[in-house]
Amino acid sequence: MSTALVWLRRDLRLADNPALAHACAHHAQVVPVFIWAPDEEAPWAPGAASRWWLHHSLAALADALAARGSRLLLRHGPTLQALLALAAETGAGAVYWNRLYEPAITARDSAVKAALRATGLRAESFQAHLLWEPWTLASGAGEPYRVFTPFWKAASRAPVALPRPAPDARPAPAAWPASVPLATFGLLPRLGWDTGLRAAWTPGETGALARLGAFTDAALARYRDERDRPGRAGVSRLSPHLHFGEVSPRQVWHAVTTACAGAPLEHPGGEAFLRELGWREFAHHVLFHFPHTAEQPMQERFARYPWAADATAELAAWQRGRTGYPLVDAGMRELWTSGWMHNRVRMLVASFLVKNLRIPWQQGARWFWDTLVDADLAANSLGWQWTAGCGTDAAPYFRVFNPQRQGEQFDADGRYVRRWVPELAALPERWLHAPWTLPTDEQARTRFVPGLSYPRPLVDFAASRAAALAGFEAIRAGA
Ligand code: FAD
Repeated sequence: MSTALVWLRRDLRLADNPALAHACAHHAQVVPVFIWAPDEEAPWAPGAASRWWLHHSLAALADALAARGSRLLLRHGPTLQALLALAAETGAGAVYWNRLYEPAITARDSAVKAALRATGLRAESFQAHLLWEPWTLASGAGEPYRVFTPFWKAASRAPVALPRPAPDARPAPAAWPASVPLATFGLLPRLGWDTGLRAAWTPGETGALARLGAFTDAALARYRDERDRPGRAGVSRLSPHLHFGEVSPRQVWHAVTTACAGAPLEHPGGEAFLRELGWREFAHHVLFHFPHTAEQPMQERFARYPWAADATAELAAWQRGRTGYPLVDAGMRELWTSGWMHNRVRMLVASFLVKNLRIPWQQGARWFWDTLVDADLAANSLGWQWTAGCGTDAAPYFRVFNPQRQGEQFDADGRYVRRWVPELAALPERWLHAPWTLPTDEQARTRFVPGLSYPRPLVDFAASRAAALAGFEAIRAGA
């Protein structure tokens, strides 16, 4: 029984952590380490909101390990050098970690594994981040899936192993190697824009499990009916916790199974929710097999789409939530303030950017990457390509979400828009999603002046929709 290093990455939890469990089961001393090496994830190093989350999640994990008599060591990259140095300092004979699947990370991890093994160290990785690894599922023709429904049909039949509890405490090494202070990673914002994030979230395993418990106790039963209503607490908000691995998808799957008396796929809320978890798996499957789709459209013809010539001002209005379309603006402000946006509204704001403003989806994906606490390369790329109509299994290109209609349908009582766009709060529901149509007497009564109190629509919906469709016709004709 020797010493093992556990290289933690986006598995910032003690429970159901196979690399940690394996190290604890087979080694007398276990040294957990996190290495900050953002350059190795380029061009998708964590954005500003993700860094904020990471800081707090690492602090929470360090506390949890300390409570068990262990420690979380922090080191700066390059990763391979950091691991080799730590192995030399501790006399470790093995390094364990849980696998991730994004292109830059898999390339780095393969190189690290080979180099560690070449020095005689044992290097082993484990499955923890996904329920079904991308190479374990294939269509009847032996190809990767490109369409969600058959993927889900095959995947949801495959058994999901039970999660494992956190391992018992391990004896600490006789002397702990040095750790750099967390502050040296420079993850927190200097300008203090994180007030809204702090109010909205509790990063870390305890926060993740509390969120999962609250969801299965209350919202799961109504999930199918409420999941599209951004003004209600109808979804789990587990996405950043899942992204950083503070809770595992196996834990989520089995918590939902238990809450549905063992038959989640026969339970309306359970089935709808696990299907969404299935989309998370599908997103990783697609990015793993088609790694270019983080930057390039899956359907090649979309690379020739005639985007708007200069849309700098329109992009800024979209980012700041000043497009004049209430549901779009509410979503963009929710994102800026809390680091998260409801899925229904993500689809709408993405459609608006790509189709009504004709700004390339990659620019929207970059903004999301920097501002979302759950920014995830697989889910973000799939979400943007789906909405733009250029991805696998995408929304048909002619589907252009109408912000006014979406508002009237999914935020009928206006709770969401009133919360995030307070200058519209006094408007009656009838005009809330089209404030530019507010009659003069209502303007006087509510002291609301279209264009002054709140912007007029940045673009005319019908005209911009027609321009988008003309663009699609042009690339179709040239296909
Ligand atoms: P719930 O409805 O409670 O779903 C449970 C879990 O299933 C989520 O936590 C998430 O892990 C997964 N999930 C749900 N919907 C999807 C989906 N459509 N695709 C993949 N996984 C899904 N999700 C991210 O995690 N990171 C992103 O960067 C991201 N970018 C997106 C960009 C666009 C343009 C769009 C349309 C969607 C994006 N999504 C992304 C997917 C989805 O919007 C979020 O996962 C969801 O809103 C998270 O909220 P929740 O945890 O309450 O979800």
